[in-house]
Amino acid sequence: MPDLGSLWRDSATETFSAPPVSGDLSCDLLVIGGGFTGCTAALKAAGQGADVVLLEFDTIGHGGSGRNVGLVNAGLWLPPDTVCDTLGTEAGERLNTVLASAPDLVFDLISQHDIACEPCRAGTLHLAHAPRGLAQLKARHAQLIRRNAPVTVLDPTETAARTGTSGFHGALHDARAGTVQPLAYVRGLARAAQSLGARLFEHSPATAITRQDDHWIIRSNDATLRTKALLVATNAYHRPVSHMTLPHVPKVNYFQLATAPLGNNISRDILPGGEGCWDTGLIMSSLRRDAAGRVILGGMGDDTGVQAGWARRKLAQLFPQLADAEITHQWAGQISMTSDHLPRILRIGPDALSIFGYSGRGIAPGTAFGQAAAHALLTGDDSHLPLDPVDAHIERLPGLKTAFYETGARLVHAVSARR
Ligand SMILES: Cc1cc2nc3c(=O)[nH]c(=O)nc-3n(C[C@H](O)[C@H](O)[C@H](O)COP(=O)(O)OP(=O)(O)OC[C@H]3O[C@@H](n4cnc5c(N)ncnc54)[C@H](O)[C@@H]3O)c2cc1C
Repeated sequence: MPDLGSLWRDSATETFSAPPVSGDLSCDLLVIGGGFTGCTAALKAAGQGADVVLLEFDTIGHGGSGRNVGLVNAGLWLPPDTVCDTLGTEAGERLNTVLASAPDLVFDLISQHDIACEPCRAGTLHLAHAPRGLAQLKARHAQLIRRNAPVTVLDPTETAARTGTSGFHGALHDARAGTVQPLAYVRGLARAAQSLGARLFEHSPATAITRQDDHWIIRSNDATLRTKALLVATNAYHRPVSHMTLPHVPKVNYFQLATAPLGNNISRDILPGGEGCWDTGLIMSSLRRDAAGRVILGGMGDDTGVQAGWARRKLAQLFPQLADAEITHQWAGQISMTSDHLPRILRIGPDALSIFGYSGRGIAPGTAFGQAAAHALLTGDDSHLPLDPVDAHIERLPGLKTAFYETGARLVHAVSARR
């Protein structure tokens, strides 16, 4: 498969660059990882007047934050009742409540810092891929209505009018949600943090973490950094660091392809309202448009020929007018997927946290968790964290689960490509 590259890298108007770290530094809070979690934490800390340093292994947005679909969802992949069943009612509702308003946080930060990331608050459509998918959506709707969420079930006819295809059996519209250009959003967060005094460094892998005299000592390039508080926000893209082991969490590949910008005569019926979409399939797919009028289709799996072949056929099946559309971009990323699909805040030592496992829902959750973690680490007050920190997290057979997801995606896509 030719490497067509990431659309988000080509279309981002937000730019950001920072030098590699060098010399000896000290700070109040050191953040490792320049994704949504790390950049929001740096922004929050700098906004509170703290001295914050962020180290990024590659460039800002190198991980999941620069590769994702851009759906700013209000909640997790799990329905809210399941969150409560797993965490208990009090903890579950605390998390549900934070995540329900997390899109507000994202869109407020975008407007406050003038982030040029194609924000669109038209909501999302959760599409029923099969009749049983519509039954699941109705159950999710009932749970969300009990929590006063602005959600509506659409019948197949309304769904066809909103999407431009009769390929779905109904949908759940969530008016709290929306879409962004994800790489531009994370770069904008980094720029805003920098403008408030945060010191950000790219091409600066944290390679060793040790503890000395009530402080954390971090090595990166030829630099030694000393900090009171530490946030490790490396998630699915974690690069090994000496003297610190993080849990292995299963990873799911997810790939996307994008058409060239489409003329209005071809595309006026496709998502005319601008909603971002995901479906109820276990091997999930996504669909959206961008500001230039491209159609972007995604699915679980890596960017090999099988998935790309499936995606082309799926696009033509949903929208026959796109059968010959030029595909200009194709890229993939890795999602850190915990077994219960819930994120974790892991206490890795005194004044030190690691956050991971958003399980495919990291834009709004990463923004909310990053802010809350910065506050907790700088004040010592954990009470505003969306989840209680845990002291350990163990996943059984993460390698096998990763292989299971990948094989499942290939099988589903290979079979559906032959239909
Ligand atoms: C293809 C795809 C589609 C997705 N779609 C959506 C979606 O539509 N909506 C949604 O809400 N979520 C989505 N997600 C999930 C979301 O993108 C992630 O949950 C989110 O980006 C995680 O952000 P993060 O800041 O925790 O980690 P990341 O963005 O992965 O950032 C971690 C960073 O840490 C850096 N790093 C690693 N090790 C080191 C080290 N030792 N030293 C220094 N830096 C290091 C990495 O280079 C990386 O930049 C998707 C994910 C993928 C991959």
